[in-house]
Amino acid sequence: VTEGTPVSALDREGATRSGFGRDHLPLGVVRPPGAAPRCAVRYGDRALDLPALVRARLVQADPALVTAPALNELLAGRDLDQLRADLQGLLDREVPLPADAVHDLADVVVGLPVAVADYVDFYSSEAHATRVGRLFRPDGDPLPEAWRHLPIGYHGRSGTVVASGTPIRRPAGQRRGADGPEHGPTRQLDYELELGVVVGRPSPPGRPVAVAEAPEHVAGIVLVNDWSARDVQAWEYRPLGPLLGKSFATSIGCWVTPLAALEPFRVPGPPQSPAVLPTLAREGRWGLDLQLEVALRSARMVRAGAPPDVVARADAAELYWTFPQQLAHLTANGAHLRTGDLCASGTISGRGDGAAGCLLEATQAGRQPLVLADGTEQTWLADGDEVTLRATAGGGAVRLAEVVGVVEPARS
Ligand code: MN
Repeated sequence: VTEGTPVSALDREGATRSGFGRDHLPLGVVRPPGAAPRCAVRYGDRALDLPALVRARLVQADPALVTAPALNELLAGRDLDQLRADLQGLLDREVPLPADAVHDLADVVVGLPVAVADYVDFYSSEAHATRVGRLFRPDGDPLPEAWRHLPIGYHGRSGTVVASGTPIRRPAGQRRGADGPEHGPTRQLDYELELGVVVGRPSPPGRPVAVAEAPEHVAGIVLVNDWSARDVQAWEYRPLGPLLGKSFATSIGCWVTPLAALEPFRVPGPPQSPAVLPTLAREGRWGLDLQLEVALRSARMVRAGAPPDVVARADAAELYWTFPQQLAHLTANGAHLRTGDLCASGTISGRGDGAAGCLLEATQAGRQPLVLADGTEQTWLADGDEVTLRATAGGGAVRLAEVVGVVEPARS
């Protein structure tokens, strides 16, 4: 390679400060102008082009996999660790990179990183499940009987998982009205702050995945906004759970953070009592100490160019069920894991004030508005509102790709 971008020109300190330095290296899919989508690695505010790095023999990977328009086949293989080691070695040495191997993020379209196979959403935050339970069953036990014995969840709709930045059209649906059911645009649009694991290596049909084996099947994690229409959900959900109230859109971050990057931030997770059955018992420390936040801008704040207002903070380490337990549960009946499966945590909330991962909780089902920086009283989401989910670990040493979505008016 005679001409190119020296690694030193990549602004190593800036990349480290941004939470996308050499110890993170999340994978994604980018489309440079006039070119086909391809697999890439994020480094600071650049995307490193994997096909170009492979062509220049700077990293080893199957050229067919890195030129694909989704990460799936790359994540399914066993050489992700080698790819990561190659990339880190490259960044640590002063090797010039070919010019076509480095894109400014501003110059490329960053898309959905994986073709999502199956999508499952759990309900694993005790603070969230407890507060929602109190809201709907003020006199009963806030947690369903099975809640401490298995990670409760439901199968969602993978075809409507979209990349961060995709506008969210206000969905229509059926809801309870004063004189019977009504159909129309939802009046109770909500977000849900969640983390999702992306399955890399599949598991064979018919064979449950043990808790201890589950991490080997996970390529990485993304932030998830599981948009919800609460009026539609409340009317339809008994007894089989949500259907159209959730299936209109789910936004995910565009860069998949490898589990290896989260190694220093693994924690035991909260104690489980009563003890769970042996098939679900925790193995290893798989709580993830990630600081999460929800930031809102009202339509007026968006128009004025005002900064988002952080309305909730929570820590993923508080999740009662860890992802290996969730995956073991998902496969306990012999259902297998497929590459590209997305398994989301469920809304993550903390125990205190200002820690509600959705508006349903934060506003007591619309009764107690949040007041934003510009004075906007926020109950449910209005047209033009913008929701941003963020997550960092180690005080910003690793930053997950954010998830942003703006609400568009209902189809007329
Ligand atoms: Mn959810």
